[in-house]
Amino acid sequence: MEKLRILGEAAKYDLCASTASPRVHTQGSIGKAVSTGICHSFLPDGRCISLLKVLITNQCIHDCAYCINSTKNRKQFKHSVTSFEPEELAKLTIGFYIRNYIEGLFLSSGIGKSANCQAEIIHEALHVLRNKYQFDGYVHAKVLPGIGKDELFRIAELADRVSINVELPNKSRFSETCSTKDFYSDIIKVTKFLPEMRKKGEIPAGYTTQYVIGAAEETDKEILDTVFDFYNDDWDFRRQYYSTCLPLEEKTQSYPRSYFLREHRLYQIDWLRRIYKFSPEELMTVINDDGFIPLNMDPKVTLARMNAEFFPIDVNNATYSELMRVPGIGHTSATRILKLQQQGVKLTKNQQLKSIGVVLKRALPFLKVGSKKQLTLDNFGNSQGGV
Ligand code: SF4
Repeated sequence: MEKLRILGEAAKYDLCASTASPRVHTQGSIGKAVSTGICHSFLPDGRCISLLKVLITNQCIHDCAYCINSTKNRKQFKHSVTSFEPEELAKLTIGFYIRNYIEGLFLSSGIGKSANCQAEIIHEALHVLRNKYQFDGYVHAKVLPGIGKDELFRIAELADRVSINVELPNKSRFSETCSTKDFYSDIIKVTKFLPEMRKKGEIPAGYTTQYVIGAAEETDKEILDTVFDFYNDDWDFRRQYYSTCLPLEEKTQSYPRSYFLREHRLYQIDWLRRIYKFSPEELMTVINDDGFIPLNMDPKVTLARMNAEFFPIDVNNATYSELMRVPGIGHTSATRILKLQQQGVKLTKNQQLKSIGVVLKRALPFLKVGSKKQLTLDNFGNSQGGV
């Protein structure tokens, strides 16, 4: 349990996840929420599952400035170093599975001796889990920086999903935070294996990556240049995650939501690219001259205001892509509006829009409903979209 506490805590900055349960077991009750290292993730069919999220070791030879497991920070913060044996981790996972605590495993690791030695240990743990314990549940394995293609292939054979943490958006920012890894040979070269292997069917599902936000002096523009590139067909990342870099000495304290506003704005831009299909060029126009997304307004609202000549649009004649550009209208409400258009139903009242999920406060300045423009942009405060 002590190893699990340390290695579960150390894994919590890898994203796939919500937080663990703080519920305490009371005598006489049934079941126990084991808070350490259990998180939730979503399968492609939308099911939410609980995962044991843990490192196999927090020992690491690298010196990433933002990471509590790095050589320098480990000494400075005097935190314990420990590792699971492959058999031990496999047994723990199957034990939790049998007790219904978890439905799968999210496995990451520090790098004890070298990436390939560590990959062998991870492979052995997964091999024991799959073969000795006959575990057929979900396994997500993190790809280690600097790992060889054969080692990655062997792990991918046993996992349901793999992901790699790019962490910083380019070589120069990467070098600001780590002197023991190289951006190209340890990160980009390994990242390139993923689309190659995916094309050959050697990776079972789409892969993801993650950035640590604010670890260097990187701007949002630098991050988005890399993010948009990784969503291109050549790379074909399924999703990209953003994680605010927290001061190491204060990682246990709670932070106000505003602390995570930059991360939130990056997720909003990411969403506009992936789901709403805004072009990278258009999204880049939101960025200020200093290279950062304005924090005081939702980027979709900023874009709508910058393209004011396009609005208001007539809700009864608008296309899907036009509707998706209106703040306060998302995929579900746009689809419902189109269905009503096809059925010949005229939308003439704000209440009708509200009942199909349109957020009136945000949408009305950009819409004509029943041949009337509802609000002017001047009525629309700058506070829209702030936290
Ligand atoms: S390689 Fe990973 S575990 Fe090691 S110091 Fe860097 S971020 Fe931490």
